[in-house]
Amino acid sequence: MYKIGLTGGIASGKSTVVSMLRQYGAAIIDCDIIARDVVLPGSDGLRAVVRTFGTQALLDDGTMNRAYIGSVVFNNPAKKEELENILFPLIRQEIRTQIAQLEKAGEAVVFLDMPLLFEVKYQSYVNEVWLVYVDAATQLTRLMARNGYTKDEALARIRSQFPIDKKRSLSQVIVDNTASLEKTEEQVKAAWNQLLLRMDKR
Ligand code: ATP
Repeated sequence: MYKIGLTGGIASGKSTVVSMLRQYGAAIIDCDIIARDVVLPGSDGLRAVVRTFGTQALLDDGTMNRAYIGSVVFNNPAKKEELENILFPLIRQEIRTQIAQLEKAGEAVVFLDMPLLFEVKYQSYVNEVWLVYVDAATQLTRLMARNGYTKDEALARIRSQFPIDKKRSLSQVIVDNTASLEKTEEQVKAAWNQLLLRMDKR
């Protein structure tokens, strides 16, 4: 299976590009959903989190207390690593399972929709990376508009990720989503058609 990582910065337009790719018939694995599902109530993942972080890691309704876990791992690299050592293998396993299912269904290419691909070091797992790029000013404006954040709140979230220009230099295909949706769609369509040609030649 040929694996493509699809990533970007916060509010750069990944969901917008994913919905375009879905319309062309691309197979896409949503890694955010997987990351949520591995700690659903009753899951091995959530049990392991509670063993490590205590029952405070649970809310009354049995779901994971994300605010508590977030406060424990914030600025505590050792705790963050403990959490990642629980979650990452489960996420990797589920990604592998979904890839195997798609392969069985006859798919030759899959996109891994993974907002934090570089942050979790998945670039060597995939064959190439597509980055949805926006310039810094547009990213700030769109994030403030979409989430109702003040400028400082939006900047804090943008700065908690790898800088988008660094991600850009590590990616093989760039979709620049700074301008109109039409301009973005032209680029996505062209990149998709190129991909199909490349796959045919393999
Ligand atoms: P996140 O990872 O933060 O969830 P994302 O990268 O998936 O975000 P989107 O939700 O697709 O980003 O886009 C961010 C916001 O910008 C949305 O409100 C979307 O409607 C808007 N947007 C995306 N592309 C464009 C565009 N080309 N022109 C104008 N607005 C856009």
